[in-house]
Amino acid sequence: MPDKDIAGQILRGTDEANKTYTFDEGHSNDRPSMMWFQESHEGLILFIVFYTQACRWSRCTACNLPSLCSRFHVGYKDIRKQIDWVFAQELVMNQREKIRKVIVSNNGSVLDQETFSSNALMYFTLMANEHLPNMAVLSIETRTEYVESAELEFLSRAIKEGDTPTELELAVGFEIFDDHFRNDVFNKGLRKEIFEKLARNMAEYQFRLKVYMMQKPIVEMSDAQAIFDIGQAAQYFGSIVRQHRDSGTGKARLKIDMHLNPTYVARGTPLEQAFLRGDYSPPRLRHVAYAALAVEKEPISVYIGLDDEGLAVPGGSFLRPEDESLRAALARFNILQDYDILKTALR
Ligand code: SF4
Repeated sequence: MPDKDIAGQILRGTDEANKTYTFDEGHSNDRPSMMWFQESHEGLILFIVFYTQACRWSRCTACNLPSLCSRFHVGYKDIRKQIDWVFAQELVMNQREKIRKVIVSNNGSVLDQETFSSNALMYFTLMANEHLPNMAVLSIETRTEYVESAELEFLSRAIKEGDTPTELELAVGFEIFDDHFRNDVFNKGLRKEIFEKLARNMAEYQFRLKVYMMQKPIVEMSDAQAIFDIGQAAQYFGSIVRQHRDSGTGKARLKIDMHLNPTYVARGTPLEQAFLRGDYSPPRLRHVAYAALAVEKEPISVYIGLDDEGLAVPGGSFLRPEDESLRAALARFNILQDYDILKTALR
């Protein structure tokens, strides 16, 4: 399939955001980009990032995830080989019974059929049903504009055919609560009305939502503003869950899990230039723990991202050697969702 137009969109987005990274054309087409395990309150998570054509949007200023992808099309047959590779790994097969959740990513939008073949996604659900008998949640990362109800219904039916009833979760980047910072400064291109429409659809089918937030992803935000922004987001997502309670039983028809990513200084982004000028520093983990406390009062959960995926410039990570014990406490919090762990760590 000719990919010139998509490749052109990717380059234009990258240029418009003043990003200077290149793409990973040296990666083998039949291996995923990355794969790892996470421990969480939902049990063992297998996180797979498939190697495909990069995010078509590519405009978000602090993001260099597209640099781990190809600028060119990666076809169905190659993605299928990547899927076969995943299920041939001893590490995966030895833990197949323990895996409760699978997150499928391509560092962009898995539901964008131009960059991730729908056939490959269907093949993935088939393989997951066959090999992961206790998978309770299948999570798919995407931008909202690629979500089509018909595809979701089909996927949801497909994953219900496994040994364990499996819920479908969409994982979408929201990044910043403040509208001006999110869309005019960070270039996210996501209006709250669009997100709210997605939430309504998800509630109708009783699917789940994971929302990615970034703490302090732009130079224009102070540490205090960044903490405030996460607090505002927690209230907003909490209010959306409350709106979608069943009027008869009062039971929530929508689950939202916030994935709170402290920002690292990503190579080849305007944030890197600001960091090198001394105009930006990543958030302190203390501030991240403090921000996460805002979720305690809301009917949502929060998972704190503690990995910079090796994409930070030297000295540009939020992981600082002196914060190791705090990092360990946050990792414990991720598993137990016990806010006393955060409060004790902050004393
Ligand atoms: S944050 Fe997501 S939508 Fe934005 S450029 Fe990065 S991968 Fe694309």
